[in-house]
Amino acid sequence: MERRMLIAGNWKMNGLQKARKEVADLLALQGGKMPSMFDVLLCPPATLVADMVRDAGASGLAIGGQDCHHADHGAHTGDIAASMLKDAGAAYVIVGHSERRADHGESNAQVKAKAEAAIAAGLIAIVCVGETLAEREAGQAFDVVGKQVDGSLPEGADGQNCVLAYEPVWAIGTGKVATPEDIAAMHAHIRAKLEKAGGGILANARILYGGSVKPSNAEQIFALRDVDGGLIGGASLKAADFSAIIDASKSL
Ligand code: PEP
Repeated sequence: MERRMLIAGNWKMNGLQKARKEVADLLALQGGKMPSMFDVLLCPPATLVADMVRDAGASGLAIGGQDCHHADHGAHTGDIAASMLKDAGAAYVIVGHSERRADHGESNAQVKAKAEAAIAAGLIAIVCVGETLAEREAGQAFDVVGKQVDGSLPEGADGQNCVLAYEPVWAIGTGKVATPEDIAAMHAHIRAKLEKAGGGILANARILYGGSVKPSNAEQIFALRDVDGGLIGGASLKAADFSAIIDASKSL
C-alpha cells in the first residue's frame, strides 16, 4: 500500500495570537490549498489550536496538539485531554517528544498510555522516539530506539491512527542532521519492528524523520526509503520556510 507523506510542524512553546499570521501567509504561499498528494500538519501551543483550526478552514491544513494526558478528564491541573484537542478541531497529537521525555520524565509506558488516549479520542497519534548523543556514541542507538518503539506503541494502533517519528535527540534544534545512511538504517529498523507489531497491522504506519529539517535538506531526507515525511520544529515557525519544505516535497 502506498503511504501518504506527512509534513508536520511542531511549534513547541512558541506562538502568541500574532503568530496566526504565519498560517495566513502559508495558505497564501500555497495558493489557499495544501497539496493533495500528501498531508500537512501544524501543531501549535494548545492555546492556538481552536483558532488555527478556524484559520486553516477547508485548506486541507490539519492542526494538532503537542501532548495529551492519558486520562479523558479529571483532577489533573494544567493537563489537556485528547478529547479536548479533538473537540477544538485537532486531528493529530504528538506524544513522547524527547523534550517531554526529558523535561517531564515521561516513560515509554506513559507515552503508550497517551497514544492510546489519543486514538480513543479519534486523533492520530504521532509517537516520537530517538536516541541521545551519548547513546549513539556508545553504539546503543538501535537498541534504545527499538525499546522505545516496543514500549511506546499503543494498543489498537494501525497504519491509519498511528505515526512514528524518529528524532535523534542530538539533531533537534541543533542544526546537526543525521546522515542519510543513519536515517535510512534507523527507519528500516523501525519498519521491521512495525511489520511484526500487532500481527502486521502497523506495517504501513508512516515513519517521519525529525531533527533540523529545513528547506535545503528536506527533499534529500524525504526521498530516503522508509522516510514518509518529517516532523519539523524551528523551520515550521516561519511560513516561508515551511512552505519551501512543502514545495521541496512536491517532486517526490
Ligand atoms: C522537533 O521539534 O521535533 C524538531 C525536530 O525540531 P527542529 O526541526 O528544530 O530540530
